[in-house]
Amino acid sequence: MKPVSDVLIIGAGIIGCSIAYELARAGRSVLVIEKTRVGAEASSAAAGMISAQLSHATEHPTPSFFHLQIESRALFPKVVTELEKESGLVVDFKQNGIFYLLFSKKEMSAMQSRIQWQKKHSLPVEWLTASQLRQREPGVDQPLLGAFYFPKDPQVDNVQLTLAYAEAAKKYGAQFLLEHTVKRILVEKGSVKGVQTSAGRVCRSPVIINACGSGAGFDKNLPFRIPVFPVRGQILTYHFRKLPFQSPVATSSGYCVPRERNRLLVGTTVEFHRYHKNATVSGMREILSDVSRFTSCLTGLTPYEQWAGLRPCTPDHLPILGKTPIQGLYIAGGHFRDGILLAPITAKLMTELVLKGKTSISLKPFSLERFL
Ligand SMILES: Cc1cc2nc3c(=O)[nH]c(=O)nc-3n(C[C@H](O)[C@H](O)[C@H](O)COP(=O)(O)OP(=O)(O)OC[C@H]3O[C@@H](n4cnc5c(N)ncnc54)[C@H](O)[C@@H]3O)c2cc1C
Repeated sequence: MKPVSDVLIIGAGIIGCSIAYELARAGRSVLVIEKTRVGAEASSAAAGMISAQLSHATEHPTPSFFHLQIESRALFPKVVTELEKESGLVVDFKQNGIFYLLFSKKEMSAMQSRIQWQKKHSLPVEWLTASQLRQREPGVDQPLLGAFYFPKDPQVDNVQLTLAYAEAAKKYGAQFLLEHTVKRILVEKGSVKGVQTSAGRVCRSPVIINACGSGAGFDKNLPFRIPVFPVRGQILTYHFRKLPFQSPVATSSGYCVPRERNRLLVGTTVEFHRYHKNATVSGMREILSDVSRFTSCLTGLTPYEQWAGLRPCTPDHLPILGKTPIQGLYIAGGHFRDGILLAPITAKLMTELVLKGKTSISLKPFSLERFL
């Protein structure tokens, strides 16, 4: 049986679609097989913050990961311009910056060294007192210490961005086989040969990229385990005549993200090993209690939507990018809370790896090998 494509990608989330786009643009024939539809899972559930500096200051001290985040953020303006042109879709990319609110000196000192490190490396960070913050964002109306402002962290409409990647990939000839679940990855003599879908269909390809998000470990017949598991996150959406915030405002546990069509996205929960993307009453309570620490703007309002998504997480919370022990089988997954931010750099590096066998940024810290 002949190969159906040069490269077969499993999963049409933002990671699968962005890789399909870069590879198709480079002239490769690409087939994407997706269980349901484009962007059906985490990629549409996200809040769309491109929060490289914020996430480094508050969570990840790993330098190689921060480097990846900063490089990816830098790719956004060009990628967005190209995608909007090629897909005809608008992705609402806004370079408004992101505020990180602090309530105590203890919280502030916990992030001080990373803030200093960022400043030393010419990454802009501003400190605002509570009253300076209130002048910029009057929606923050509860007592607090102040806020760090990361002016270079932008935001995007992640639903539109995922669709734009898929549409632009199609313009370069990529094919999408939707509503087909891949059941097995076919391997012969240590090399990948193709996949088999739940309908029994076999699609052959010499290169296969697993971009299945939280479902990356679906094939239990492989001779190794892919340690990606789901972490559920919930979001509430409110409608305003005039939005109470100009830019995303975040705390250690909650955030409000102003979006197109006067919507305010309010999140989130971080629920480890939850396998169902159902939204819950306790999730709603947790989110509202978190954001009521800094704003009263939701008091008495009813959300018009609530949803949940499954973030793909790994044991060390870093992504898995690169080769697997099977020749021709690659993985791009486990992006946890940063998959929207990391899509452009993931697509760039995975394309380099498939086409040239090497990458411009080392993928060693993100190799599957670290878990084998
Ligand atoms: C509430 C919430 C808020 C978030 N906020 C942000 C944010 O502000 N900024 C940010 O950068 N990130 C954010 N994230 C994280 C981000 O959404 C994820 O890291 C990213 O979407 C992962 O993309 P993915 O393509 O790997 O996975 P997914 O979007 O889950 O896509 C995987 C796709 O693979 C398909 N699939 C799975 N198994 C199979 C199979 N066997 N056969 C065929 N298809 C299959 C699925 O149907 C799915 O469409 C957030 C996530 C959540 C849940």
